[in-house]
Amino acid sequence: MLKPIPEVMIVPKFEGGGIISFHEKDVPVPGVGQLLLQLGANALCGSERGQFYQGSEVTPGHEGAGIVVAAGPGTSTSVGTPGAVFLMDFCGECRSCALGFTNQCLHKRADYGFNVDGGFGAYELVNENVFFAVDDDMSPTEATLLLDIMGTNGHGIRRAQLVRGDIESAVVSGAGPIGLGMLAMLKVMLGFDLPVVITDVVPYRLKLAERMGGLPVNVAEGTLAEGLKRYGLTEVDAAFDTSGRAVARRAALDALSKRGVLICIGHGQGLDLTISPDLIGPERAVIGSEYFCFNELPENLEYLRQHRDYLMRIITHRLPVSEIQRAFELFFGGATGKVVIEQ
Ligand SMILES: [Zn+2]
Ligand SMILES: [Zn+2]
Repeated sequence: MLKPIPEVMIVPKFEGGGIISFHEKDVPVPGVGQLLLQLGANALCGSERGQFYQGSEVTPGHEGAGIVVAAGPGTSTSVGTPGAVFLMDFCGECRSCALGFTNQCLHKRADYGFNVDGGFGAYELVNENVFFAVDDDMSPTEATLLLDIMGTNGHGIRRAQLVRGDIESAVVSGAGPIGLGMLAMLKVMLGFDLPVVITDVVPYRLKLAERMGGLPVNVAEGTLAEGLKRYGLTEVDAAFDTSGRAVARRAALDALSKRGVLICIGHGQGLDLTISPDLIGPERAVIGSEYFCFNELPENLEYLRQHRDYLMRIITHRLPVSEIQRAFELFFGGATGKVVIEQ
């Protein structure tokens, strides 16, 4: 619903120490090439832990979706268009951008929600290049799925396919929101019959993963290898680490078949490799994967259209912005899927 644009808005302020207060900010006016969005939803992300505990100069939020309410000169997006915001303000002209690798832009101008104001406010000013339009009947909450959940994980799968075209089984380490998203995208992109073993230590998350078609393994109670055996597997073709934990990465690597690939998505600890047996002999690969390319969005939007209800199961909590403090406490408590703030 379009409201008249006010001059000021009340937005969350991340004070640090796990405290979120509210303060007043001017509603920005779009300049050349810019759009003003009225936010409808913004999902919480594990990468906001630093902002929650150390504070933030800008309004956080990098998984936002809303509706264009004002468009600056030189733009072609109509007022009233719903869409989602790509995190990285890529230049569009460097060697990376020219090839479509917009997540590896060499002259990145900003990261929305990290060094310029993001999506937890009522309005967000963005450059038009980072705005991705969605269908009119798609809710802002549904549109947020295109970002870290579908975008980041879809990219990880496409990275794996660069070296492994015939993925017939997979392990996902970590059943937090990214891990659940990885499970879902593996099913959506590679088929619902694909066996996907998913590990965690939090029973709530493992139960949710199981309801989404994953084969849960609680690594607090046994090893990944034992878990695989329970499901009749001895090895898998691809492993995706969302946990960032060295021990999980190592276990995932050890579970790989010949020509297997380990994709590292979760930031965190290291991985000790013994090059000959780990990599050279079995021709395995270890690949990093960071966010995603803007040009992956149209294909992911098609997946979202086809599997809306299934993908929406990843979102377990939706709270109004007035309850953002409680939302973060719940989220970092660990017993949630994706948590979304709705305006
Ligand atoms: Zn994120
Ligand atoms: Zn660039």
